[in-house]
Amino acid sequence: MRKTIFVLLDACQYEAGTRNLGYLEHLIDYEKGAKYKVRGELPSLSRPMYATLLTGLPVYMHGIAANETVRVLECDSIFSLCKSQGGFTAAAAYSWVSELYNDAPFRPERDRIRIHAGGMIDAGIYYWEDDYPDSHLFADGEYLRKQYDPDFILYHPMGIDYQGHLRGAGSREYEESVGKANVILSLLMEDWMKEGYQIVITADHGMNTLGIHGGTDAEQRDTPLYIFSSQVRAGRFEENSISQLNVAPLLCRLMDMPASREMMGLEEIALA
Ligand SMILES: [Zn+2]
Repeated sequence: MRKTIFVLLDACQYEAGTRNLGYLEHLIDYEKGAKYKVRGELPSLSRPMYATLLTGLPVYMHGIAANETVRVLECDSIFSLCKSQGGFTAAAAYSWVSELYNDAPFRPERDRIRIHAGGMIDAGIYYWEDDYPDSHLFADGEYLRKQYDPDFILYHPMGIDYQGHLRGAGSREYEESVGKANVILSLLMEDWMKEGYQIVITADHGMNTLGIHGGTDAEQRDTPLYIFSSQVRAGRFEENSISQLNVAPLLCRLMDMPASREMMGLEEIALA
């Protein structure tokens, strides 16, 4: 299995990502990776999209219809597929990720740090306050990565979503939070690549200027997708939007494991 890092920048809209993720855009300019524009699935809400991104299924199929739908997913996901291939899975993520892939409801005293505690994520550190600093989240992920050498690891910071709800997309604070993620990534990615990881960076949904997401317009649903892997053709592929349902089968392809039967094909992504 080829080791893969998946970064989910919560609520990073396509336009704001493109404006502020300067280091990633630089790497794309020099054809070190591929960039796509993703038309997000609906509803453009967090928990439903945490399920869609990692199962490759639309909401009506996996059943996580709202942020208030609190239960463990029953269908295959990147985590379960990786484990069934003998791989090791890890996540530094919001508590809802643990509820979807480990155990629900989330109990901080039991679930804040979960190592070999059952569920689809072998090693996880989870937070539940939306203002948990992104710097701490990435440090949690780095601890897990160095300690357990996972085949698949999710890094899931909430800083962009938090500022988006407080001040709206387009506010100085929202734009700045995307820039902050850019700096953190620019400090980590060299090591990640040196250590042989493939890297996929995207978002669950966008954000509008009112500080809302859940609906159908481009601000709320369009997200960027950056792929750093020798398995895909490098360059800019942003002219037409691709479906968000590509993300899960893309991860399967990068990791060299079979996709689940319900996942879509990868015709929209230029493979190497
Ligand atoms: Zn949100």
